[in-house]
Formats: sequence, C-alpha cells, structure tokens
Amino acid sequence: MSLNIKWIGLAMVLGSAMVFVGGCGQAQPGQGEAGAPAATKVAAPEHGGWWCVEHGVPEGSCAQCSTKLAAEFQKKGDWCKEHNRPESQCFICHPDFEAKFAAQYEAKFGTKPPARTE
Ligand SMILES: [Zn+2]
Ligand SMILES: [Zn+2]
Repeated sequence: MSLNIKWIGLAMVLGSAMVFVGGCGQAQPGQGEAGAPAATKVAAPEHGGWWCVEHGVPEGSCAQCSTKLAAEFQKKGDWCKEHNRPESQCFICHPDFEAKFAAQYEAKFGTKPPARTE
C-alpha cells in the first residue's frame, strides 16, 4: 500500500509544480495559438486549461500567465506598459477586445466564457 501513497505524493508534487510554472495551466512557449496543445484538452470546457478564466483569453495566448509569451508580445511592440499586458489583451484600454476573445470561446464551446476572476 505504500506504493499508492507514493503515487499520490507524486501527483501532488506535479500538480503544484504546474501551478508554480503556469499560473493557471500550461503555457506552451513558442507555439502560440497555432500549436494548439489545447486540442487534446477540450473535454472539460469550464476549467479545461484552454481558457484562462483569470484573464479572459485563451491560455495559449495569455501573456499574463506566461513570461515567455509576454516577452514575445513585447518584442512585437504589442504591449501596454501602463497595465503590464499586451495591448491586444488590454481590456482596460480596449474594452471591446474582451468580447472578441469571448467570441472565440463561444465558437468553441457554444457557451459564454466564465466571468473573469482577475
Ligand atoms: Zn492568464
Ligand atoms: Zn492598457
């Protein structure tokens, strides 16, 4: 039975490691939206990892959860210094952008995205 305990321990370590690394799930650096590691994770729409509930954008393009993505956006010059996020994801400067991302979610799952928790 000690084997079971070992596995539980391992799962817990992995779980907390993911939280530590990703903030709100995994961000695959360098793949952008096209890489779509999300394709295999669509099963659980609410908290399936495709959508960043915290920031209201797809996880794969959430620069607020991935410092690597953030660096890419900054390199492209797509960055709101005032709010420390990509200009294209800054719903404070561009409230209409939020609906654009929400539409992506709705197209995929047929429901409105969960309310942002930020
Ligand atoms: Zn996020
Ligand atoms: Zn802004």
